[in-house]
Amino acid sequence: MSNPLLIAAKGKGFLPMLARSRMIVNRYGLTAGKMDAALTALMEPLTHYSCSATIPVTASALASNPGAIKKNSLKGLEFAVHGLYHVDYSQLNLEQQLKHIREARGIFHQLDIPVAGFRCPYLRWNKDTLIALEETGFDYDSSQALSMDVVDEFSTETYHRVLDFYRAQSANDYPALPSWSDNLIRIPYCLPDDEALIDRLHITDTGIMAHIWLAMLDHVYQSGELFTLGLHPERASACQAALHAVLAKARSLSPSVWIARLDEIAAWFRSLGQTTCKIENEGGSLYYVQIIGPKRATVLVRSSEIIAPTQPWDIDYKAVCTNEFFLRSDKRPLVGLTPSSSISLQRFLRCQGYLVELSADSEDYSVYLDRDTFSREDERPLLAELKQDHRPLVRLSRWPDAARCGLAITGDVDAFTIWDYGKRIFIR
Ligand SMILES: [Zn+2]
Repeated sequence: MSNPLLIAAKGKGFLPMLARSRMIVNRYGLTAGKMDAALTALMEPLTHYSCSATIPVTASALASNPGAIKKNSLKGLEFAVHGLYHVDYSQLNLEQQLKHIREARGIFHQLDIPVAGFRCPYLRWNKDTLIALEETGFDYDSSQALSMDVVDEFSTETYHRVLDFYRAQSANDYPALPSWSDNLIRIPYCLPDDEALIDRLHITDTGIMAHIWLAMLDHVYQSGELFTLGLHPERASACQAALHAVLAKARSLSPSVWIARLDEIAAWFRSLGQTTCKIENEGGSLYYVQIIGPKRATVLVRSSEIIAPTQPWDIDYKAVCTNEFFLRSDKRPLVGLTPSSSISLQRFLRCQGYLVELSADSEDYSVYLDRDTFSREDERPLLAELKQDHRPLVRLSRWPDAARCGLAITGDVDAFTIWDYGKRIFIR
C-alpha cells in the first residue's frame, strides 16, 4: 500500500479523511504565503521565550520552494528531513529507502541547509529505515511515536485508531528519552500532538489543549525525561495559546527545563555517554572523585557527606559545584555492573548520566546490577529501581545546566503549497 490516499484513509478513517481534505485546501495556498504565515505564528512564542524548534521538511516540497526556509525570520530553527516525498516508508524496501533518503539529503545539501535528523511521514518506519539513515550519515531519527496517558475523558475511537496506525508505544512502558539503534540516536515523538488534539480528539478549546500539554510537561518533569511537543506550523495559530502556556510553565520551573532542538539533544546524549571518571578510596570511607564529562553537565550526589560546596537540586540529590572533590561513603558510590553485562545496559546507564564500573565484587558498590541481557523493555523498570534506591551515588545530571527535564518543540512541513500536497498522490 503506497498510495497516500489509501494510507491516509487507513490511518484516519474515510469520512474524517474527506473532512481533512477540505481543511488541507484551506491550509495550503497556491503559493507559499499561507505556510509563511504559519511559520511566523510558530516563531512568535518561540521568540518570546528565547527558544527554537526542529522543523522536518519533505525534501521534494523544499526543492520546489527553495527560498521558503531561508528567511531571516526563521534563523535559529533546525531543519530535518521529512522524507523525499510524503509517503509511507514502512512499505519501502532498503534499496528504495536508501535512494529516497540520499536524494533528500542531496536537496538539503544543494541548498546549503545542514541536516542531522529525520522523521518519517506518518511516523511509519521499518528496520530498513534505521539502516538507511545510519548508512547515509544521519545523527538521529525522531519517528517513534510515544503516547502519554493524559487524554482521559477526551479519548475518541479515531485517536485510538491513529495510535495504532503510528504504532505508538506507551510512555507507561517506555521512557520518553533518546535511545540507541546501533549508532543512530532515536528521539521519541510524544502524543497527543496538535494534529491529534484538533483532528482526532476534536478539541478546539485552547484551555483544554493547554491542560493536556501541561500534563505531559508535568509527567516528564516528574520523571526527568523529554517532552517532544509536536506542533505542525499550519496549526500554530490554533495552538499558539497552548504553546505559550507550556513555554511559560517550563521557564518558571526550578530545577529548570532544558528547551532545545532535536540536533542539540542528540549531540548532548552522545556526549554524556562519553563521560569518564576517577573514583579512588583514600582510606576508610573517604573517596576522591574526579569526573570528566560535557562542560554543561552538573555533578549530582545522593546520600553522602560531600567535602565541597553544594547547592540543593531535588529531594534526593545535591548539585556539587565542582567536578573534583572528596566525599564519604561506605561503598564505591557508583553503579557496579557484572563483567558480563550487555553493552546495551552499559550504554543506557552512561547516557542517563550514571557512572558505571565493571567488577565482579558486588559488595564494593552502593548499587550493583547483575544482568546479562538488557532490552528497551527493561529501561522503564530499571529507571524506577534506581530512583527508589537511596544509597550513596555520584552521577551527572541527565540534562545540561542542571535542568531536570528536556522540552523540544517540533512540527513537520509536508508541503508549502497545494501543488506540493497534490504531488504526494502521484508518487509510488
Ligand atoms: Zn508529515
